[in-house]
Amino acid sequence: MGWKSRLPLGLAIAFIVVAPAIFGSFTITLMNYIGIYAFAVLGLVLLTGVGGLTSFGQAAFVGIGAYATAWYTAVHGGSPWIGLLLALLLTGLVATILGAATLRLGGHFLPLSTIAWGVAIFFLFGNIDAIGRYSGLSGIPAITIGPLSLGGNTAMYCFIWGLLGFVMLLCRNLLDSRKGRAIRGLRGGIAMVESLAIDFFRMRLAVFVLAGMLAGLSGWLYAHMQRYVSPAPFDIRPSIELLLMALVGGAGHIAGAVVGAAAITLLKNALQDVLPLFTRYSAQLEVVAFGVLFVVILQKARAGIVPMIARYLPRPRLVVPGQVPPLARRGRPVVSGQAVLTIQGATKRFGALAAVNDVSFEVKGGEVLGLIGPNGAGKSTLLNLITGTAKPNAGRIMFLDDEVTKLAPRDIAGKGVARTFQHVKLRPNMTLLDNTLLGTYSRTRSGFLAGAIRLDREEEKSAQCEALQQLKRVGLAEKAGELAGSLPLGQQRLLEVARALAADPVLVILDEPAAGLRSLEKQILSRLLRTLRNEGMTIVLVEHDMEFVMNLVDRIVVMDFGSKLAEGVPAAIRAEPRVQEAYLGGVA
Ligand code: ADP
Ligand code: MG
Repeated sequence: MGWKSRLPLGLAIAFIVVAPAIFGSFTITLMNYIGIYAFAVLGLVLLTGVGGLTSFGQAAFVGIGAYATAWYTAVHGGSPWIGLLLALLLTGLVATILGAATLRLGGHFLPLSTIAWGVAIFFLFGNIDAIGRYSGLSGIPAITIGPLSLGGNTAMYCFIWGLLGFVMLLCRNLLDSRKGRAIRGLRGGIAMVESLAIDFFRMRLAVFVLAGMLAGLSGWLYAHMQRYVSPAPFDIRPSIELLLMALVGGAGHIAGAVVGAAAITLLKNALQDVLPLFTRYSAQLEVVAFGVLFVVILQKARAGIVPMIARYLPRPRLVVPGQVPPLARRGRPVVSGQAVLTIQGATKRFGALAAVNDVSFEVKGGEVLGLIGPNGAGKSTLLNLITGTAKPNAGRIMFLDDEVTKLAPRDIAGKGVARTFQHVKLRPNMTLLDNTLLGTYSRTRSGFLAGAIRLDREEEKSAQCEALQQLKRVGLAEKAGELAGSLPLGQQRLLEVARALAADPVLVILDEPAAGLRSLEKQILSRLLRTLRNEGMTIVLVEHDMEFVMNLVDRIVVMDFGSKLAEGVPAAIRAEPRVQEAYLGGVA
């Protein structure tokens, strides 16, 4: 079964290897351009397809890379290899500055700002004397490796495609590592990402810089192949073409970069051959043809070519790691009976509405506390205050010995508070295992480089073991290799619980974990929560199923209209007349 899923890759590599022996110079040149574009498109795949950040400025980064090396080698006679260093440094630097300024913008502002930036850089290139204004720079030398010059077509071909293969491998490794999973998680939104102790903004910045540097690499190759640069190829239109390549190829897939670059380059070439036979306005018609293609893709084949092919291939089998050392535990500093969570006068207002109004209570170590109340009582808002997702207008929240009222959600999560959401927040296109592995982020260390060159395998195996263990606890181990999106809602909730547990938390916060669960699944959850309590974990849960709550929890806090209505052991709450009136009604 393994070979079948690898067949397309094998064929592609074989084709690329034998191409120079089959094709003439024209085709090899064309393939060189495809390879060069593929680097920049690869950046967009990571940024847009995987990270969910649309950029219309990718060609501008290609331009910076190209101009950096052109200026250094053609004007100052330097080595192309130092030019490469310069290209990467400059694109990385510009991306960092630009990203820091714009990546906090939400909604459509980010894509819009990349358009502005893409246009601006074009005029900048065209107006600087030192880089030849609109006429550009010529006399760029070929790349040399020792005595070997890459001035020839075929030599450049081997270099470009060899390098591309290597860089794609690094990117694949990265996406399959701790940091890469965090990048893949970005589309889950800030609340999900930060609840896993991941810095949302920095992760966005990292992928933006990575994409910029891949474009810089593309620009470096472009300058030394073309031996001449001018501003035109780095305008906004080529940026849109790069984005189109990513879309056509399959923006979520690394292979999509090559497939998309090839498809669009060949199509463009064909149009340039064919259109002049019919009309004098071929250049304009080409633009129209691409516009139509863009719309058709967005309407009909949003996922792109690679996912269409991948659908017919068997999914790679999950390799279960053997005996590996377990991930380090967080060490539970909690003595049973000690306060783990203290809420003092917490208040959260939305305009005139006090969603949480002066609520105080304590949760002790090893306790399961049920938070109940009618819809709109403020339960979820209170959980958001505890986890830092929302900030209170008044009051204090203490976790163990620290005040966490003003901390970012990621920092609270890092202290050992894990949570699930009332509206499930998972990555449907990631496997159950990968979703659960996201939970281990705070317990693992590997960085970008370690992930890319696979120095993280030991830790990764331990993390996988941990994730599988948690999946087993919620009864989902057999489905570890399936996509989370294929699960029914009830099981998605259980998956969120597994992800929360993978963080080895001190305190687990569950917002309606049993909603949508079938009775067997409820039993699994109930048994699991009991086991966790016996292990010393502290749990706060919101739940509407009274039987579930009453049989499970040690204590209950009742909320109504934002205020705390009552607090006590289940039997006392059941007997409380005010609670019956406000909430339990006929149930009791
Ligand atoms: P519960 O979880 O108990 O059903 P919530 O905490 O979700 O209640 O909501 C409490 C109240 O606060 C509701 O009236 C809800 O409409 C309001 N609310 C919650 N979140 C927001 C928000 N982000 N903006 C404005 N109002 C909100
Ligand atoms: Mg709620």
